[in-house]
Amino acid sequence: MCGIIGIIANQPVAQDLYDGMTLLQHRGQDAAGIMTYSGQRFHEKKGLGLVKEVFRSRSMARLKGNAGIGHVRYPTIGGVGIENAQPFSCQMPYGIAMAQNGNLFNFYELKKQIAEEDLCNVSSECDVEAILHIFRSSLIKLAHKNKNQFAMDHLWKACKKLFSRARGGYSIVGYIGGKGLIAFRDPHGIRPLVMGKRSTEGKPDEYIFASESVAVDILGFELMGDVAPGEMVVIDEDRNVHRKIIHQEPHRPCVFEHIYLARPDSLMDNISVHKARMRMGELLGKKIKKANLQIDVVMPVPDSAREAALAASVVLKKPYREGLIKNRYIGRTFIMPDQGARQKSIRYKLTPIILEVRRKNILLVDDSIVRGNTSKAIIDMMREAGANKVYFASASPPLRNPCYYGIDMPTREEFVANKLTEEEIAKKIGADALFYQDIEDLAKAVRYKKKNNVKRYCMACLDGKYPVGDFDDATLTKWEEQRKRSHAELEKNKNGLPVLQ
Ligand code: AMP
Repeated sequence: MCGIIGIIANQPVAQDLYDGMTLLQHRGQDAAGIMTYSGQRFHEKKGLGLVKEVFRSRSMARLKGNAGIGHVRYPTIGGVGIENAQPFSCQMPYGIAMAQNGNLFNFYELKKQIAEEDLCNVSSECDVEAILHIFRSSLIKLAHKNKNQFAMDHLWKACKKLFSRARGGYSIVGYIGGKGLIAFRDPHGIRPLVMGKRSTEGKPDEYIFASESVAVDILGFELMGDVAPGEMVVIDEDRNVHRKIIHQEPHRPCVFEHIYLARPDSLMDNISVHKARMRMGELLGKKIKKANLQIDVVMPVPDSAREAALAASVVLKKPYREGLIKNRYIGRTFIMPDQGARQKSIRYKLTPIILEVRRKNILLVDDSIVRGNTSKAIIDMMREAGANKVYFASASPPLRNPCYYGIDMPTREEFVANKLTEEEIAKKIGADALFYQDIEDLAKAVRYKKKNNVKRYCMACLDGKYPVGDFDDATLTKWEEQRKRSHAELEKNKNGLPVLQ
């Protein structure tokens, strides 16, 4: 769960990178970093926290150059320390900087192989360091073979080598000193990546790559579309655009981007997140209608469930009411040492409007239920505020399987849907009735399959069908142990910082 951006322009890019990263801030709040290139060398600033906390006018002034990349981080593996903040860079054979969104499930294996084969130490817990190493070592070999003469073909070959070794879901932006801005997406295109162009008369076109189209739009670029699965794009220093499909597998974009992670004003693989969420609500509303409940109001759990709640209210012909107010100023820096405190924090974060709640039969709509703690705390709050009945609807089907492609999703045992039946979950969270989206309806909502244009998703978190990797029970258990260790470390390092978004 990270956000990446890369820009090559006719003037310094630091401000555009900063603004773009602020637009992608919802994708990661733990660390932020920018690397720019000024013709001779890279300039870097990385730090822990939000974009606005990491960069000051002095650091911005240091980030010289008309090209650069940026990253906002939400760790899925690895600690929260500065050593894991991106972008990463290397000097040989050319200066290369890279930032990544995603996760390699064979990262620790690669780390070991790199140490054995190349006697090189991948010192961080960050998979982009392994990616950078593999990419760079291919380039070094190709440079040696070709008397240090660079050819575009070297980049395609390095990318091909990387695709053959890196297993998981990943999107990358990078800058190669003297060569240009690069971007690629894993062969299944699991993690998102779009590109755009900005034209000014009399000047070369400027280009951007970003995790979400919102950054392209707001920075005044024209959206050119998605980087294709398995495609590498290079914008060279003369602004020629080179595109090549290096290795393509069936497209499996992540469905959870539509459910929870992405901003509604983004387009993901040409599907509007806003519209997908509206359709989720419409179909959920139709399902709830069949239960013939006495509902007075439909209420979203802010923010990502707003569209679904609104669309459900239209289908149900019941008023939509904003009855939960979110405190925007409680971030991930709030100190919460234990689970009890974390649950309490939901109450600081969300407050009911008693006037909208008292004596009402409320249908609460949220984007998803993971452990069930958030829904329980919210329903308790509703009851204390005087609600009569509280029905709960999840725009996502039951989540049951960990994500190994870049979404921070817990181990199998932590998903409440793996421990309890729907009826038992309703009881646990205190709902008078519980509705989950049907997986077929979710598929319709995200346009799983379009006429003449087959579109499929990675829905492994819902259906356990992982597009990359053959995951048997023993492998999953091994990774879960790894993830538990990593998360324990994370919690220790954070001194109990929350897992809340
Ligand atoms: P819980 O059921 O208490 O674990 O939390 C569910 C809530 O967490 C949902 O309302 C989502 O908005 C949010 N959520 C879902 N997935 C994630 C994630 N990977 N990281 C952080 N929050 C999430």
